[in-house]
Amino acid sequence: MKVDIGNLLQLQTIDLEISRLEDEMADGGTDLETRRETIEGRKVSIAGYEEKLANCETRRRELDAEVEDETAKIKDRQTKLMNVQTNREYQSLLKEIEDGKRGIKQREEEGLQLMEQVETVQGQLEEQKNLCTAEEELLAEATSKLESVTKKLTTQKNKIVKSRDAKVKDVEASLLKRYELLRSRRNGQALAGVTDGVCKGCYMNIPPQMFIELQKSEEMLACPSCNRIMFHDKVAEEV
Ligand SMILES: [Zn+2]
Repeated sequence: MKVDIGNLLQLQTIDLEISRLEDEMADGGTDLETRRETIEGRKVSIAGYEEKLANCETRRRELDAEVEDETAKIKDRQTKLMNVQTNREYQSLLKEIEDGKRGIKQREEEGLQLMEQVETVQGQLEEQKNLCTAEEELLAEATSKLESVTKKLTTQKNKIVKSRDAKVKDVEASLLKRYELLRSRRNGQALAGVTDGVCKGCYMNIPPQMFIELQKSEEMLACPSCNRIMFHDKVAEEV
């Protein structure tokens, strides 16, 4: 019985260490994934700013063309002004010229606002690009770091898996089955130590009679609350 418990305890230690290594590698992968997502988000912003700039540029060209067009029209009307016959025609041309000038002024104002907007967007774009470059460098660093860590952890894990394979041979098949079942249902902890009548797996008291039995360590007992295989701390020390 003591030997069985001892083997199971060693097996549990090995299995917990394997889980720890697997978690460590998985965490590294999650970290890289988060970094990649941040960079992707950054690229979406960059594309958005670039599109804004392109739209501004299109509008700026439109405004330039409109101003040019309007200027030509004004010139044309000013020429016509020299040859008008009636006062009515004269007034009408004057009004058209004034309207044209107002139109040019409005477009020039819009052009100025556009320039300010372009300046702001260019600043934002540059900031995002710088951040993106820095993050890509960090991602590359983290990737190569994880690669070497994974290599190390995998070597470590393979070694431990080998020792597990050896250890498993010492455990009787039905007991191993029970251990595996508990391990999968109890977050890797199939065994629980008991101190002063309290199961350290679930922190519940076990019946006093059971505790006495456990101290004699003549049979393998399961915690009535969490069902884990119990062992008395003294037994663990002896093992
Ligand atoms: Zn328990």
